[in-house]
Amino acid sequence: MTTAAKPNGKPRVNTSASTRRGQEAPILVCGGAGFLGSHLCARLLREGKRVICLDNFCTSDEAVVEPFSSEPGFKLVRADVAEIEESSFERVSAIYNLACAASPIHYQKAPLDTLFTSVHGMDRLLRLARRCNARIFQASTSEIYGHPTIHPQVESYWGHVNTMGPRACYDEGKRCAETLCYIYHDQYAVPVRVGRIFNTYGPGMRMSDGRVVINFIVQALAGEPLTVYGDGQQTRSFCYVDDLIDAITRMMAVSLDGVGPINIGNPVEITVLELAQRILRLTGSRSSIVVQPLPQDDPPRRKPDISLAARLLDWTPSTDLDTGLTRTIEDVERRLERQDAALIAAVGRARAASATRRVGIAGTAL
Ligand code: UDP
Repeated sequence: MTTAAKPNGKPRVNTSASTRRGQEAPILVCGGAGFLGSHLCARLLREGKRVICLDNFCTSDEAVVEPFSSEPGFKLVRADVAEIEESSFERVSAIYNLACAASPIHYQKAPLDTLFTSVHGMDRLLRLARRCNARIFQASTSEIYGHPTIHPQVESYWGHVNTMGPRACYDEGKRCAETLCYIYHDQYAVPVRVGRIFNTYGPGMRMSDGRVVINFIVQALAGEPLTVYGDGQQTRSFCYVDDLIDAITRMMAVSLDGVGPINIGNPVEITVLELAQRILRLTGSRSSIVVQPLPQDDPPRRKPDISLAARLLDWTPSTDLDTGLTRTIEDVERRLERQDAALIAAVGRARAASATRRVGIAGTAL
């Protein structure tokens, strides 16, 4: 079911008529068709919640949420979070804001959209949260820390971000969104939750996403060289998507009034070169590794200190890298097989059509 929310606030999304499930107002998931958003929608629907998924599909595909359309508690709204009117929605019981391109190659293509999605989108959602007295989760990011000068990164560290670099549109947008959250909390008592999400991976990532895990897996399975940027000694710490969704739903479930941002991620750190080697081993691929230039402002080290999350949420990630990568590889393999099958079917249909045309032409000639 799709409802278009126009910037002028019409039509209004009728949240009360959307489902027979429970009486609680629905949960709004912005960016609900994206990688994290679609996992979150699936999780909330499994729990019997009503979900409004809002997305402008700038880096996602409607096909991802198509399987949810038969769920009575699901409603899809095609809209840009930076343009929605608070009055477009009747009531919501909670808001998750995951609306922003997160892959560097994608968010850098449209830097103003990236910045305003975070800034204007957050402002609009905070107004809605205020009116509905709803808890609101902001998907913040480890990019808040920029090129960190302390390691691992703790929430009390203010970060080291280049305001003019290619990542600034994302980093500064997210930093401003955090500021907005705490202004609305302090001025209007909006119950905000800010989760600083570190690198996350798992099934369902778009194959053209551009981020390192999916790039390496697709390259390995295609028998193409794995593209390591720089010397590959930069580090990241990768969290499996189910663990991440578990953490953010916990953040919404517990009382966190007066608590600032919370790091969410898996603290097991690995170099990009080691990751490439790991993926080669797990896929059994014989691809080579090629070196490409390191993008400007690529953070050299990243690892979350998650002691705050462990204490406040009773949460630590439980999926080790090999297990998570294996599941992700299997998912990509399945999708590639489906693509191949679709391609073979399309070629078959094209051949059949051309044979029919030949018969038709021959028939005319007769
Ligand atoms: N990277 C790489 N090859 C790729 C894609 C990324 O070596 O094909 C590197 C990138 O330079 C960065 C790390 O992998 O050091 C993680 O990049 P990603 O785009 O996944 O996210 P980031 O953490 O930089 O936002």
